[in-house]
Amino acid sequence: MIPLPTKKKFIKLPLVQEFLEGTGGEAAIGVAAFCEKKGKRVTDEEIAKKMKVKVTEIRTVLNRLHYKGIACYKKTKNKRNGWYNYTWEIKKKRIVELILEEQKENIKKLEEKQNFGKNYCFFSCKNTCNVTPFEIAAEYQFKCPECGETMNSFDYSKKLESINKQIDTMKKEVGQLEKIT
Ligand SMILES: [Zn+2]
Repeated sequence: MIPLPTKKKFIKLPLVQEFLEGTGGEAAIGVAAFCEKKGKRVTDEEIAKKMKVKVTEIRTVLNRLHYKGIACYKKTKNKRNGWYNYTWEIKKKRIVELILEEQKENIKKLEEKQNFGKNYCFFSCKNTCNVTPFEIAAEYQFKCPECGETMNSFDYSKKLESINKQIDTMKKEVGQLEKIT
């Protein structure tokens, strides 16, 4: 078993909330929080009742999360009426895994952008329609293909600064999550 942070802390991490919402839809944070709090398998009806949301909406969320391996269900036969009961649980470990994968990919992309920005001269029109490297701007004869204005050299340092900040923040967040796993 992998030790995880306290229930409250995990679900409150912005990265976790963003991820859940992006993966399962708006209600996903509530669903995961409820399952967490319960600490045992729950039915979709229970979740819907607690959240005061239609059960179909909860099922949509659970299916989306199930597709990613985040929500898992257990099927049991109800002895009284012969129907099947589905009880659900949320896999925290899987959430962490997926976020780490995603963030590492994002950081890689930003670092590539950063290197690109360091190694090239950029050009743009005064409307900043596009920021393009010298070679492309030259192909357009330094006339913006969108607005027709002249393209001049573009100061990329501000953009680099913001990319650096983004990378720093992401690395911190990843570090936080890695501590969890
Ligand atoms: Zn332009």
